[in-house]
Amino acid sequence: MTPFESGPEDHSDSSEFDFSNVLESMSTAGVFAVDRRLNVIFWNRFMEVHSKLKASEVLNQSLPRFFPELKEGWFAKKVRSVMVLGNQSYTNWTQRPYLLHFPSSQYSVGDVDHMYQNCAMWPLRDTKGVVQGVCVSVHDVTEMAMAQKMLEDATEQALEFEESSNRDEMTGLYNRRYFFEQLNHDIARCKRYDWPMVVAIFDVDKFKDVNDTYGHPAGDEVLIEIGNRIQTCLRSSDTLCRFGGEEFALLLPNLPGSASVSVLNRLRESICATPIQTEHHQISVSISIGGVQFEFDKPSKDALSEADKALYEAKLTGRNKVVMAN
Ligand code: GH3
Ligand code: MG
Ligand code: MG
Repeated sequence: MTPFESGPEDHSDSSEFDFSNVLESMSTAGVFAVDRRLNVIFWNRFMEVHSKLKASEVLNQSLPRFFPELKEGWFAKKVRSVMVLGNQSYTNWTQRPYLLHFPSSQYSVGDVDHMYQNCAMWPLRDTKGVVQGVCVSVHDVTEMAMAQKMLEDATEQALEFEESSNRDEMTGLYNRRYFFEQLNHDIARCKRYDWPMVVAIFDVDKFKDVNDTYGHPAGDEVLIEIGNRIQTCLRSSDTLCRFGGEEFALLLPNLPGSASVSVLNRLRESICATPIQTEHHQISVSISIGGVQFEFDKPSKDALSEADKALYEAKLTGRNKVVMAN
């Protein structure tokens, strides 16, 4: 019978073949083996190319000698556990970027300076079946890791951009654009749970005088501190925005109208109770607040203009006070 006539079952015993030659010349994945003392007993072509160490240099030498960054303790423990338990073990680049540091001058992607590796370890048995060491495969996953990292960076940048486009640069509070976006969310949420909602607008009293007396930079510090003080009085579900200039807006979902005056007065008092310490001055300021209990069957702009009117009335009738529209 010629070799071409033989059935596959004739060669089912792989011990007839010498795979070491294939593994040795393989340049697409790294394969190496160490004995129980971590001396190298196998080192294939891929390992030679990427480590720039010839098999003749490393064979019968201790592996950590060539890779000082290899945590000898960790690697030794891993090898021992594979040998004792006789099981396979894997390391993924996300847990450990690489097992062996291979410089990656060939990668032009990003600023990567090493090869990312996924590795697997197997117990290495002699012909009698006794475990004598471990065999390790090393897969170059740098391109995949870089692609994933670039995707993560892009996602982070997009999130940062989204966040910064919602914020007022000076105070760090949400801005007017975000207010209207959040207003729609809160309306939907309050309707779903049948909650009441209060919307309020407040404005710093006689703020022009603050600027005129202490200067614009001190005025800026006052606005930032007003934002901080109000924010600390709010619940996490409330939204504080800088509406523009020295005017701010508040969304207070799940706040009944009956409680709104005392809640808003607490905010007002947090500003006038103690002077604001700026870099050079102590500045006493107050705010006037116009509030409205939101009516869900009316357009939201009506609620805002009612809050605005209430604020105007607070200004006209003495300032440093809360006026509710209804
Ligand atoms: P009222 O009690 O009626 O609100 O008086 P007011 O002086 O606060 O009101 P007016 O609208 O006359 O002045 C508001 C001032 O707020 C004028 C403006 O220069 C100042 N202002 C607006 N934005 C800023 C800011 O970002 N920083 C500083 N320092 N001042 C600002
Ligand atoms: Mg003002
Ligand atoms: Mg104003």
